[in-house]
Amino acid sequence: MTVNPFSRPGKKLSTVKALVVHWVANPGTTAKQNRDYFESLKKQSLDNANARYASAHFIVGISGEVVQCIPSDETAYHVGAKRYTPEAITAFGHYPNNCTVGIELCHPKADGQFSTETLHAATELCALLCVQFSLDPLKDIWTHHGVTEKVCPKWFVDHPDEFEDFKQGVADAVKRLGAGDGNG
Ligand SMILES: [Zn+2]
Repeated sequence: MTVNPFSRPGKKLSTVKALVVHWVANPGTTAKQNRDYFESLKKQSLDNANARYASAHFIVGISGEVVQCIPSDETAYHVGAKRYTPEAITAFGHYPNNCTVGIELCHPKADGQFSTETLHAATELCALLCVQFSLDPLKDIWTHHGVTEKVCPKWFVDHPDEFEDFKQGVADAVKRLGAGDGNG
């Protein structure tokens, strides 16, 4: 995306402490459509007090396609809020956008259930990012809900056991990638 004040501020992340998973909350939309929405925010006026600030680093589509919107070492506006959970403040300080990578997941319906293809691609993506940033999949993958209590992603808020399964799947994928075998 183009560098702009509303969706790609062009600032470097301080460090990457966690991945934060979201739902797009717009049933049936594609990864590309959601990326184009974030890009369109640049058209807003700087004088607009009600301007929307929103973006994410990656969007995983219903068919398992992955669109990267912002480089993984730059800030995205995916988890900003007036209040954060005590757990998030402990882990990230008072501005979690500074040190987290945001991943939006598309979904076919309003219930927010993810397709097998989306979950598979998201698992592989999170595994690669965990290796890249030396993150522990079981501790360093958060839901948006865990950071701000927003109901996002709805399916994982409604089915916390499936979020635990997702993180375990990422941990298994990291092992398959052979991370940390010490052989260079
Ligand atoms: Zn979210």
